[in-house]
Amino acid sequence: MSEYTYEKDADGIVTVTFDAQDKSANTMTFAWLDAMEEMIESLKAEEGLTGVVLASAKKTFFAGGDLDFMLNSTQTAQEMYDYVERNKAPFRAMEKLPVPFVAAINGAALGGGYEICLACDHRIVVADPKAVVGLPEVTLGVLPGAGGVCRMVAMLGLEAALPLLAEGKQLRPDAALTAGMVDAIVETQDQLIPAAKDWIKANPKAGTKPWDKKGFKYPGGDATAPNVRMAAAMAPTMLYGKTRGLMPAPEKIVDIAVNSMRMGFDSALRAESRGLVALLRSPEAKAAIKTFFFGMQAVKSGKIRPEGAPTKFKKAAVLGAGMMGAGIAWAQAYKGLETVLKDVSVENAEKGKAYSNALADKRIKRKRMTQERKDGLMDLITPTDKDADYKGADIIVEAVFEDINLKAKVIKESFEMLADDGIYGSNTSSLPISVLAEFCPDPTRFIGLHFFSPVDKMKIVEIICGKQTSQETLRKAYDYVAQIGYIPIVVNDSRGFFTSRVFATYLDEGLALMQDGVSPVAIERAGWKAGMPVGPLAVHDEVSMELTRKAWETHKELDERLGEDSAFGKDNAATRHIGHAMVDLGRRGRKDSAGFYDYHADGTKTLWPELSQFVVEDRDVSIEDAVDRLIYRQVIETLRCLDEGVLNTETEANIGSIFAIGFPPHTGGALQFIHGKTKDLFLARAAELAEKYGARFVVPEGAIAKMFDSEQKA
Ligand code: NAD
Repeated sequence: MSEYTYEKDADGIVTVTFDAQDKSANTMTFAWLDAMEEMIESLKAEEGLTGVVLASAKKTFFAGGDLDFMLNSTQTAQEMYDYVERNKAPFRAMEKLPVPFVAAINGAALGGGYEICLACDHRIVVADPKAVVGLPEVTLGVLPGAGGVCRMVAMLGLEAALPLLAEGKQLRPDAALTAGMVDAIVETQDQLIPAAKDWIKANPKAGTKPWDKKGFKYPGGDATAPNVRMAAAMAPTMLYGKTRGLMPAPEKIVDIAVNSMRMGFDSALRAESRGLVALLRSPEAKAAIKTFFFGMQAVKSGKIRPEGAPTKFKKAAVLGAGMMGAGIAWAQAYKGLETVLKDVSVENAEKGKAYSNALADKRIKRKRMTQERKDGLMDLITPTDKDADYKGADIIVEAVFEDINLKAKVIKESFEMLADDGIYGSNTSSLPISVLAEFCPDPTRFIGLHFFSPVDKMKIVEIICGKQTSQETLRKAYDYVAQIGYIPIVVNDSRGFFTSRVFATYLDEGLALMQDGVSPVAIERAGWKAGMPVGPLAVHDEVSMELTRKAWETHKELDERLGEDSAFGKDNAATRHIGHAMVDLGRRGRKDSAGFYDYHADGTKTLWPELSQFVVEDRDVSIEDAVDRLIYRQVIETLRCLDEGVLNTETEANIGSIFAIGFPPHTGGALQFIHGKTKDLFLARAAELAEKYGARFVVPEGAIAKMFDSEQKA
């Protein structure tokens, strides 16, 4: 048998070990389904069968559904439904066999993999932090359609199951035991199967599921219990706060979970199949599977990395122990990279190191780090004020003040400390990499490494190639970012690179809406409705309009210096007018306790009542237009980046837009948004916005050709 091995012992216990041929993981393929159906028939025909252990010969237990099939299926809804029903039938057949089934979980059991475990009568997991269990389908815009929703509710009760299902939580063994998702933990792999067999021998009659027994009651109360009714009534409201009605999957999960308690187990299983089919056909699921699964896989597996031997970094230097430098030092040390943290004084450098101390303490408090791990991490960070202390470093990451003259000096002086084959990265947020590279003795080894704040949470780095950056340097930069566990996206140099350029359009459109007479409350609301994490006015205040103004002035200076006429700033005319006026009014943002909001002593904030002074023309903009303006500006700027070759691939655009600037995840990213809408509808809407609101909504045709013309495909 190609998909599993089958072995019966003298006690009548059959051990089925999943072992998909020529694959590193077990997944729910058509071949697996055929094999499962055959397995059920073999078990039914077995004489003297006393129990079944399900195990895996792979590193993980079972990886789940076939996402390629889900994304690319051309089946009709009915064909899909039939397939989903066929897929879940063997699990129901397992439950109907009168002997106990035990899952011996040797590694991760996620999605369909955990649904197999749910159809068993008992689940034993090995005490390995990699052996996570859970139903993360919701994070890919779908639901667990092999009985996962119905069985979780029946096993744990509605209140306990809902958060696990609707948030797709993945739990390590100890947390899974507490949550009731597994029943026992063994210390080592070789204890798994004996423990499973012992349980079967001790529980020979455990083969009938509670929900197949007469008089079954849902744990925590059935559908009519007041607490369950309350949970069911509250769930959609609580969910809406998180999804804003933009994500159909969690809503569908709640719907099916609640109703599964009222309709009998087999009918509930069919409702679950229907729910999965509906979601599979939604643009949100396609977007999520494409970006979060296949896109992320492509980026992480090195598709965007130039070929060549991998580089392992041993010693790194971070220059500047301010907000960013301190965060980068933490990220490096967290992954075991020896880090020298340099600032103008030892005191400053120590302060930067103290940031790691505070982060580690927080984790220890939450039981997410041991003292020993913290000690090891802290030992890796050496604060200093001397360049000589990082001599021979494999990489230097410069994160001093955003001042071109200071950076020029620092780059020139520090470069000579680098190992002969080391690379030099700058964390500048706005200065062109090719310009900074001119100060570097070897510009081929100079590259942009744009981290985001706060570094410990924003796990993405925009790698920026300057005109002279070599492919070898890019490859090494990619390896560095991967080594510290961050998502690398690679772009070419441009004012504001890719991420800041696009984000600036979101912020600018917020102010353009203000000029068009949209009330500040409605502007913030439009950002929320669009799915952005924070409204544009609140972001302006956080960033500080003084910083925005400084960046604009820097670009003006650069234009003069380089004899260029960059669009940066000019395109963002509303920011220039209103943002600069706010600085003159002494309302620079949160740090002044005054910006678009007033920040009160009790920690609350309210919109400044005098913002109507910035209205240029009251244009009666609908909320739909406001929402679309905030989104289309970003999408069109992303298209410009693609058109100009700042971006190389659609995948990086999508991942970068979501993880670096918070573009609404349900869309699958700034370019996947166009696929979700369909090209024609997107172009028509952009044309409408351009006609009503101006040329900033004109779509660059070259980028559309790059996306849709197969010969030019990005
Ligand atoms: P910061 O003001 O918090 O820290 C800068 C640090 O550099 C200070 O501690 C300062 O003492 C130190 N410094 C100055 N001269 C130095 C020298 N010669 N050698 C060593 N250290 C020196 O600034 P930040 O917010 O951490 O920003 C640093 C860089 O990162 C800037 O280029 C900025 O544009 C960029 N960046 C910032 C963010 C952000 O959100 N703050 C995001 C991405 C990139």
